Amino acid sequence: MSALETIIKNEILHNGPMDIGHYMNLCLGHPQHGYYITRDPFGKTGDFVTAPEVSQMFGEMIGAWIIDTWQKLGAPSSFTLLECGAGRGTLMSDIMRVAKSVSDFTNAVQIKLLETSPVLIKKQQEALSAYSPKWYGSLSEVDLNDPLIVIGNEFLDALPIRQFRKDNNQLKEVVIGVDEDEKLSLGLSNQPSDIDAPLNMKEGEILELAPIRNQFMKTVLDMLKKNRGAGLFIDYGYNQSFGDTLQAIKDHKFIPVTDHVGDADITSHVDFLSLRKLCKQEGVHEYGLVKQADFLKSLGIVTRAQILKQKATSAQSGKIEKDLNRLVGLDEMGKIFKVMAFSSEPLPLAGFSI
Ligand code: SAH
Repeated sequence: MSALETIIKNEILHNGPMDIGHYMNLCLGHPQHGYYITRDPFGKTGDFVTAPEVSQMFGEMIGAWIIDTWQKLGAPSSFTLLECGAGRGTLMSDIMRVAKSVSDFTNAVQIKLLETSPVLIKKQQEALSAYSPKWYGSLSEVDLNDPLIVIGNEFLDALPIRQFRKDNNQLKEVVIGVDEDEKLSLGLSNQPSDIDAPLNMKEGEILELAPIRNQFMKTVLDMLKKNRGAGLFIDYGYNQSFGDTLQAIKDHKFIPVTDHVGDADITSHVDFLSLRKLCKQEGVHEYGLVKQADFLKSLGIVTRAQILKQKATSAQSGKIEKDLNRLVGLDEMGKIFKVMAFSSEPLPLAGFSI
């Protein structure tokens, strides 16, 4: 049993079953034993591969989008580029390589990184030292006095959610308890929740709510409204109201969320509908959702692959083609990953015309 599992079981024995949000927080972010706190999880030998780690073409397209958006914002002579959950720094490093030839952009940009993992901050320092980024552990610490472009790839899925199941016409919270065999297990709270079930929700169905993610988005939108700017979030997600999307991944395989505590990535699919509604409520313009495939293709990823192949050996060409398919193939990352953008003022943002 991992040290974190013991800590969680003790907490449950003292305080009763815990909600999934608190469980996710501990599994991912416990200060000593949290999944992201203790490791670099990416790559073939890790647990999963993200789009920037598949190919430089991904970061190049995002870089082109950011430069274009900065121009559409009037090419401010000073602005903040904030990346949420920057992983190994690969995406930002590919963005800045693309930006190298646009000196007004590179002179204007101040890179800020929102990151909680000491292991990944170290990797980001190695990858990005040339650009003197600044690191922040929470959004409220980010000091801003110029326009903002905020991005995040596979960041929102890591923010905790809570789940509620319709049981005998009442919504009850899904909680983690300890069963007779002293194993962690999912169950239902014996108290009805104070949340009303949506009208069209069927018996047994799961409603996921993400108060922390919504609060995060609200803070981002406040920052945009105050300072002007735009944002881009890419993640696996959906545009509907309910369903169980909680998942744990270890060694590239799905496992039960109560197994390998602190040693597996626990995420949920992002409820983009709620985030889009929030934009509307806050008077922020929103764009999307579009599939990652459509977004990357409209930014020119197929042409970029062709150009890269011109100088490549046949083995390299095969890899470029395979990576391209990984990013845009509809049975790969192309369809399940969605792209949403938002801006403080209406802008003809690239990639959202399809
Ligand atoms: N964007 C990167 C990494 C995605 S994994 C890529 O695409 O490769 C999720 C990232 O978010 C990791 O860097 C993780 O350490 C970070 N993270 C997770 N929860 C966080 C939180 N609450 N605040 C800041 N960063 C967080």
